[in-house]
Amino acid sequence: MAARKSIEQMHESHWEAHERVEATSEFRAWIAGEATETGSTIETRDPAIDYPVTEVTACDEGAVDAAVDAGWEAYEGAWGATDPAERGRLLFEWADRLRSHTDELALLETVDTGKPIAHARGEVEGAIDTLEYYASLARDQSGDQIQTGDDLHLYTREEPYGVVGQIVPWNFPTWGAAWKFGPALAAGNACVLKPSAQSPLTAIRIAELSAEVFPDGAINVVPGTGAETGAALTDHAGVRKLSFTGSTTVGSTVMHDAADTITPVTLELGGKSPFIVFPDADLEKAVDAVASGIFYATGEICDAFSRALVHEDVIDEFTDRFVETAESYVIGDPLDEETTLGPLTSRDQYEKVTEYIEIGKAEATLLTGGGRPAGDGLENGWYVEPTVFGDVTNDMRIAREEIFGPVQTIIEFATYEEAIEIANDTEYGLAAGIGTERTDLVHHAAADIDAGLVYVNEYGPIRPEAPYGGFKDSGIGKDLGREALDHYRRTKSVYVNLGSPSL
Ligand code: NAD
Repeated sequence: MAARKSIEQMHESHWEAHERVEATSEFRAWIAGEATETGSTIETRDPAIDYPVTEVTACDEGAVDAAVDAGWEAYEGAWGATDPAERGRLLFEWADRLRSHTDELALLETVDTGKPIAHARGEVEGAIDTLEYYASLARDQSGDQIQTGDDLHLYTREEPYGVVGQIVPWNFPTWGAAWKFGPALAAGNACVLKPSAQSPLTAIRIAELSAEVFPDGAINVVPGTGAETGAALTDHAGVRKLSFTGSTTVGSTVMHDAADTITPVTLELGGKSPFIVFPDADLEKAVDAVASGIFYATGEICDAFSRALVHEDVIDEFTDRFVETAESYVIGDPLDEETTLGPLTSRDQYEKVTEYIEIGKAEATLLTGGGRPAGDGLENGWYVEPTVFGDVTNDMRIAREEIFGPVQTIIEFATYEEAIEIANDTEYGLAAGIGTERTDLVHHAAADIDAGLVYVNEYGPIRPEAPYGGFKDSGIGKDLGREALDHYRRTKSVYVNLGSPSL
């Protein structure tokens, strides 16, 4: 149970947190190793009390130019001169420095996004772990030697692109930034990263904490809106590779823009991921997995299990247990350690989610939630109760469109074929889950599901060692794993004519 709070207590604790946040940094753009002003700012707001946290520098086209130039200067200078072992050492040093600021970064994340502080801390740790993984990989990079005749020495070199542009959304700001920075830097690129205007604080702060670790210009952060800063980055002729995480609609725009300059893109986009509960499933495991997969981060998760496909033999028991679990979430002040469900990150997101809840009420049966929790100081925050709809069919809008909130849809199936057909009947293909104790079902379903990730009897945990990314409209290419490192390198074949030895 969360401690009961009055609205005044809630405001007091958040205003005090905002003062601590403002004491850490001025939240300017980070360009060429310096905090940089542009003359314009954007406000970032705390969604738990709907109040401004601070002003952050907004980057226009000129600032993006300066960041890309700084990247090239670093790449053609001190940063480009580092060897892979040195890059690994610097990534470890940065990770160590971030670790000593874990609590501070978690606080920034919580006031910026509304994430419960315990989750924010876990995600900062996940970001550090990701950087350490790429620190280890940095020195283990090689090309191939291709066997030919004795008169030819043929080999490949893996080379960085130079300056890469990276755009991230607002839902996992620190972790998402580490997914971009880690492999790009390990491969030897200089980075220009644009965080979301709604949650820019931690990306700026981790860049500041890279000062004197990396050469100036190796890491640049350009906060701002998508329409101005994001578009300036995707259109920039000096950016040789783009990696974008966000919605499918904007990802498509980024890909169109990148076509003008023949810039390769990696896209990590939206999802409408199913979790199939087979009749033999251990329901405790299945309920836990599906609940974490839709209520973690208040459902603002790209690989959310937002469609629970449940076999007709177990749907009643699953539904009862799932509703009970949904009602057990501790909705409260995200600064409190015991809170397990915070507010949505913005008013826009609140409006979108509540609109879908209304659509769901007209299409299906509301089993629990659906409202804004009252009292306990939550009145001014963008809170939505964990919401569950039953009697859902896969053609309904709540089953087809990405809601990005704590809204579950429960869909019944009768046969294995029907389960797979419903699971794959979506434009997306980011993730899927399977609840079963049968090995044959695990492997058949894992093969038959058309998605880039399959979780069996759990949700996550996401490991940096494994490639992460979607099929179909959920994206192109991967973050994480060795595959992400490959996305940030180009292969060059070198033909060395040896002729015949003669002296
Ligand atoms: P969004 O697409 O609105 O914005 C993502 C980023 O793109 C932001 O930084 C935004 O400022 C920028 N942007 C917006 N318009 C742009 C333009 N014209 N040119 C260049 N950049 C532009 O997404 P969002 O609302 O911030 O995030 C939610 C979405 O992200 C969801 O669809 C979610 O599924 C997806 N997501 C995917 C993954 C994944 O790994 N597949 C992870 C997290 C989030």
